[in-house]
Amino acid sequence: MRILDKGYIELLDHMGDEDTIISAARVSVGAKAKAKRSNAELLKFLFESGHTSPFEHVHFRFRVKAPIFVLRQWMRHRTFNYSELSMRYTKSDGDFYVPKSMEVPTNIYRDYMKLGLSVYNYALDRGIPREQARVVLPQSMYSEVIMTVDLNNLIKFLAQREAPEAQKEIQQYAAAMKFLIRPIVPNVIELYEEKRWEDLELKYHKEILKKHSKEEQSLKPQSISESPEQPCQREYKSLESDEEEVGTLEPIDDEGNALWYTSPLSKDLVNDYLEILESCLEY
Ligand SMILES: Cc1cc2nc3c(=O)[nH]c(=O)nc-3n(C[C@H](O)[C@H](O)[C@H](O)COP(=O)(O)OP(=O)(O)OC[C@H]3O[C@@H](n4cnc5c(N)ncnc54)[C@H](O)[C@@H]3O)c2cc1C
Repeated sequence: MRILDKGYIELLDHMGDEDTIISAARVSVGAKAKAKRSNAELLKFLFESGHTSPFEHVHFRFRVKAPIFVLRQWMRHRTFNYSELSMRYTKSDGDFYVPKSMEVPTNIYRDYMKLGLSVYNYALDRGIPREQARVVLPQSMYSEVIMTVDLNNLIKFLAQREAPEAQKEIQQYAAAMKFLIRPIVPNVIELYEEKRWEDLELKYHKEILKKHSKEEQSLKPQSISESPEQPCQREYKSLESDEEEVGTLEPIDDEGNALWYTSPLSKDLVNDYLEILESCLEY
């Protein structure tokens, strides 16, 4: 299923379905419950009461191609298992994401991305190892990941990443995931849509907060610590050497120490890079 301009999501396989959830739940509540509740009622009860463990017996495996900044948000979800394409062993395919809503003119954005790629390719041509050359590539480059997750945690992911507060790009992947699993767990998705899991969690969190605030009120006021230090002002060393290869873009801190590690790149490329950056900032 295509997502964004060059991304996709594919459901590779799955283990279990709604019958799996029901049979796992009946182990815990015993055979007697069968007479009391139909499968549909039991599923609703489990979902609405937050009895999550039976949902964890259903697993899904996806292949995803997404911009790195999307995958970075995704990987905060610790309950997924991930395997990502290695940029140490593989050269970037050069695909980058162009947002429709880009506020700077698209040509400046494209030039900026292409320049990053040029520096990357140049570095590779000069024999710089792939894992070092990639440091110049922006967060909008696409990467590929295989991920496995159980249904309970997939629902939690959907509740957070389909929400309007989530970034539009990851919202699209979340919606596609839901679309792909709906034929396998249709009633669960319906329950999720009716009563969002996040509402249940929110209610739970509100109760905890209320309890904590009562406890805090009984504490004595403490002195407030001083305001935090300002982050160090970064400067850029000018590129003075006339030689083709220079020590490169080298931001320095107040004590003259380099903040980034340096690698041998062409002075012209670096200066082009800075010009593009400046024109983006001026715009
Ligand atoms: C709109 C939005 C904005 C965000 N902005 C920021 C931001 O600015 N900066 C930032 O750092 N993050 C940000 N995040 C990430 C966010 O703080 C969470 O890290 C992320 O959404 C994963 O949530 P989770 O821990 O519930 O998910 P998972 O890691 O998938 O965990 C799922 C559930 O498993 C349980 N669990 C997993 N691991 C543990 C553990 N170690 N201990 C206890 N329980 C665990 C919890 O019940 C958890 O809800 C943002 C998220 C969203 C949706």
